[in-house]
Amino acid sequence: MVYEAGKLDIAVIGAGHAGIEAALAAARLGCHTAVFTINMDAVGNCPCNPSIGGTAKGHLVREIDALGGEMGKTADACTLQSRMLNLGKGPAVHSLRAQIDRNQYARVMKHKLELCPNLEMKQAEVVDIRRDAEEWVLTTRLGAQYGCRAVILATGTFLGGRIFVGDVSYDGGPDGMFPATELAGALKRLGIALRRFKTGTPARVLRSSIDFSDLEVQYGDEPVTPFSFDTETPPENKCVCHVSWTNARTKEVILQNIHRSPLYGGMIEGVGPRYCPSIEDKIVRFSEKPRHQLFIEPCGAETEEMYLQGMSSSLPEDVQIAFYRTIKGLEHVQIMRSAYAIEYDCCDPLQLTSTLEFRAFPGLYGAGQFNGSSGYEEAAAQGFVAGVNAALKLLGREPLILDRASSYIGTLIDDLITKGVSDPYRMMTSRSEYRLVLRQDNADERLTPIGRRLGLISDARWAKFEKKQAQKAAEIQRAEKTVLPPSQALNDILVSRETSPVTTGVRLAELLRRPQLSYQNLAPVDSTRPDYPREIFESVETALKYEGYIKRQLQDIAEMRRLEKRLLPPDVDYTQIAGLRLEAREKLSRVRPENIGQAGRISGVSPADISVLLIWLAARDGHGEPQS
Ligand SMILES: Cc1cc2nc3c(=O)[nH]c(=O)nc-3n(C[C@H](O)[C@H](O)[C@H](O)COP(=O)(O)OP(=O)(O)OC[C@H]3O[C@@H](n4cnc5c(N)ncnc54)[C@H](O)[C@@H]3O)c2cc1C
Repeated sequence: MVYEAGKLDIAVIGAGHAGIEAALAAARLGCHTAVFTINMDAVGNCPCNPSIGGTAKGHLVREIDALGGEMGKTADACTLQSRMLNLGKGPAVHSLRAQIDRNQYARVMKHKLELCPNLEMKQAEVVDIRRDAEEWVLTTRLGAQYGCRAVILATGTFLGGRIFVGDVSYDGGPDGMFPATELAGALKRLGIALRRFKTGTPARVLRSSIDFSDLEVQYGDEPVTPFSFDTETPPENKCVCHVSWTNARTKEVILQNIHRSPLYGGMIEGVGPRYCPSIEDKIVRFSEKPRHQLFIEPCGAETEEMYLQGMSSSLPEDVQIAFYRTIKGLEHVQIMRSAYAIEYDCCDPLQLTSTLEFRAFPGLYGAGQFNGSSGYEEAAAQGFVAGVNAALKLLGREPLILDRASSYIGTLIDDLITKGVSDPYRMMTSRSEYRLVLRQDNADERLTPIGRRLGLISDARWAKFEKKQAQKAAEIQRAEKTVLPPSQALNDILVSRETSPVTTGVRLAELLRRPQLSYQNLAPVDSTRPDYPREIFESVETALKYEGYIKRQLQDIAEMRRLEKRLLPPDVDYTQIAGLRLEAREKLSRVRPENIGQAGRISGVSPADISVLLIWLAARDGHGEPQS
């Protein structure tokens, strides 16, 4: 038997999007790390959509990148097509989304892990985890044992995985892989509360069986904006996607067979993602809608498999063939892989602290789908934070705690650990109350200094970052100082943009604050404009246009941070605090918030309860015994 006691600092169970970022961050911070995977050929596998980013998810990728993570760079290297979504809306919701070559993505990620110093990769199913004095001990299916000081659980949809297609169901992981069948039992024996969630994916179909001739084409942006602040040459668009719609016949076929769905037949007990429903769910829940949109997207440059975004299902195979073939362009479609649903075990994230460590199990961390979230980007974000924190703890350094005002990553973690989840959690821009400050364009400004302090941002990258910040500051100054004289050329522009002409000199910044005007419109009259990259002007324009709102959000942030500084001791007995309502006592005891700010965000804890807590803290800190 292999037994390597005390050899490892950190073991990461899982080489999906969470495990990858966790393992790379921990190893790069100097900890001897091992990453375990059930299948070495599926490191960084994308079992659902062949894309990275999307609304709010694009923000997460840029934040991970700004901190020194890997997802953005790899996505840039594997991009097939890229678009900035929501450009018709305000800058807070602009989000990058790239179609990627999923096989290439997995290969590139695996190679990065292979080349990373301090990192070992192991294809082995972990079947047991236990605490042995100072160590965590992991046992694999082949009986090997590994001792380590910290463990990160990033088991995704594999833990207790069960596949459903119609009335057929069997134990299985995604993409025909083995599930992890034993580990959930070991976690339960430790005392970790698990729950059952489910998710689903559409069929993959053969490109040549699709009739594209009458379908709407969707092109990528020109030029493409990369995810990574480090990518020098932006990726190029290499393909197009197509759009089609379901129709009355699709609905009819699905409704006629709905009793054969494992979900409606009661076979699936797991709760599915509210914001990523299956097509049968959409048809039942939104019965008034005559049609639903779908996107036909390539899975890679070296495969003919196409992904049908928006059409996930767990209906039987024969029903899938029948309803997909009702759709324009798919009349003769050949299914290569059937759609399926997967049910899996995950933890209740209320058991975690903001470092993603289990409150009751020091040295044990959770990340990704295991924590009740859904999505590659959500997983990667948590993996990074868990990996960094496991390493910082072993190195005796201060933890990395990102608050809601710093990032979508902070918002995601705060939501998970204070609100818990009733269905797989997906990031959305509406989840952030500070979204004008947390834009994708300024992720580097918000987080790269933190990545640098951690030691995950190289000198070269830091120099580039400082140069960009200096250019931004110089451009804001120039815009405030530059006075454009009244001229026919300027007034022609203003009138054509339907904004009032000027009779006296006007500052460039003032013009940019007008909603109708942009840097692009004013180029002909802005003769002193420096030769900066496009993103500098975009960033400055947003900062000027939304200055008032941003200032207000910054005030809200200051207030929030003031409350977050009021720490609540981990061992408070809330049942003994007089004046707290019963529901608040119960919720506070369960969630165990780390500070007053978090306590205020727990549903069921009212402003009156917060006042009681503040009085209790004040009494404890300043006036002897707290009131109880
Ligand atoms: C069918 C399906 C549909 C999906 N649909 C969507 C969707 O519509 N939208 C969306 O946002 N997301 C969707 N997802 C979720 C998405 O795949 C995950 O959110 C993402 O992959 C989570 O990343 P992760 O790193 O947490 O886990 P995963 O990517 O699942 O990786 C888990 C890793 O853990 C390893 N592992 C697990 N247990 C063990 C063990 N005991 N020993 C060793 N290794 C182990 C596995 O080998 C794997 O490397 C879907 C997933 C599936 C399978």
